[in-house]
Amino acid sequence: MDYSDQVEFLGIDGSWVDVTGSTHLFGTGEQIANTIRNRVQKELGITVSAGVSFNKIFAKLGSDMKNPNTATVITKENFKDITWPLPASELFGVGRATQATLLRYRIKTIGAIAMVEPAMLKRWFGSRGLLLHSHANGIDYSGVRSVDDSEPLVKSVGNSTTCPRDLENEEDARVVFQHLAESVSERMRELGLCAKTLQISLRTSDLLWRELQTDLDLYDFFKSHGTDVVNDAADFTGANGCYLYKVRDVPANKNHSLKDSILVLAPHDGIVSSETWLACRKKLMNNTAFSPARKAKNTWLAGKIKCAKCGTSLAVRIFQGVAYLHCRRRMDSKSCEGCGTLKLSGVENTIHKAMCRKVVDYQTLTRSNSSKATPKLTALKVSLAQVEAEIDDLLKTLKGANAMLLSYANKMIEELDGRKQLLCKQIADMSTETIAPKQIERISVYLDNWSDVSYDDKRIVLDGLITSVKAANVRFDIDWKI
Ligand SMILES: [Zn+2]
Repeated sequence: MDYSDQVEFLGIDGSWVDVTGSTHLFGTGEQIANTIRNRVQKELGITVSAGVSFNKIFAKLGSDMKNPNTATVITKENFKDITWPLPASELFGVGRATQATLLRYRIKTIGAIAMVEPAMLKRWFGSRGLLLHSHANGIDYSGVRSVDDSEPLVKSVGNSTTCPRDLENEEDARVVFQHLAESVSERMRELGLCAKTLQISLRTSDLLWRELQTDLDLYDFFKSHGTDVVNDAADFTGANGCYLYKVRDVPANKNHSLKDSILVLAPHDGIVSSETWLACRKKLMNNTAFSPARKAKNTWLAGKIKCAKCGTSLAVRIFQGVAYLHCRRRMDSKSCEGCGTLKLSGVENTIHKAMCRKVVDYQTLTRSNSSKATPKLTALKVSLAQVEAEIDDLLKTLKGANAMLLSYANKMIEELDGRKQLLCKQIADMSTETIAPKQIERISVYLDNWSDVSYDDKRIVLDGLITSVKAANVRFDIDWKI
């Protein structure tokens, strides 16, 4: 404030200073910025970065670039060279949600924002879109407010607590709430503040996974399990954390069901990667799928092998000391013609041999490329790349297009985007289903010593390799996972 009375606070660690009227006293903007930087360094011992420019947007951008030894100067002549290559998120006003939408249209840099048709930005973001376009092109006429009409430095006062036990009734809640409210109002009185908005946050004991990173894989996972996902798929960029709320009064045995849950993106970063979490989650679900109470003891094929005619799981029946597999529906009601006489030991042998062959094939196939890709997965990824290239090409034609072409292109992009989402989902499904080459090696050891392998381990091997087997007489149609 020794250099200008036009100072506007920007959060707790930054300010805009308009020095237009001070240059005859203290030198150019750059000189003033460096004088201030040196003074702060000398008097407070902290380094600060500064940006000097012809408008507020680029001044902020310049200071964010954090040049250690000098102020960043962005002029009308050089702003394109400096700012346009920067990521779109660096532009003031581009938050996470905006960035996610921009990325969806392959707009990655500030320069790209500057070059998009303003009408498109308006369609996506309303009048804010036009503002982004102006800012990216160096147009910003907003002035720096003087000290007197700036916002106060402290913008919010809050307090929160985690209770050692669940709050079970209103009286419980009132005691805790009263305590928090008193501490907040005391601090507000100290600061001489009064409030414009009151916000109350409540965390329930059902709240889980708030540090989980939310990307499209995760979106697909919850969607496919019937969870009510509040946010748009486009917002699942992998940056934010999330909240999962469980609807109350769900029967206790539904511990693992996600159907009665609501997923909401959190306004903070996630820590656990979705890949790690999905792997754990899948393990958990497998555990319940094979809970001891429901485990069929007769064969490790139980549940996986189905009648080719009607699709119901085959059941084991012992006849004169020999185990056979039968179509359940045929046994119950004769409504299916059945799948013939299948001797259990023979079927188990056949499936075991098929798995051995498959694993050998797989190992020869993947030896050349060491990634965990399977041919199926590779094909999907190729399709995805093609769709993405088509979208890119379309976007290239958009610049300078007339209204009719624009609306046509938009429709095409939406359709391609739908295909892209579908492919992403399939890839995500396969990636979580697919097992790594290392696991295949372990599985191959198990297969070689099959007679010594426990019932449970046989089931795990089977589940790792096969989705289902359809049996018809002696023909087995196997749906492989690899
Ligand atoms: Zn049947």
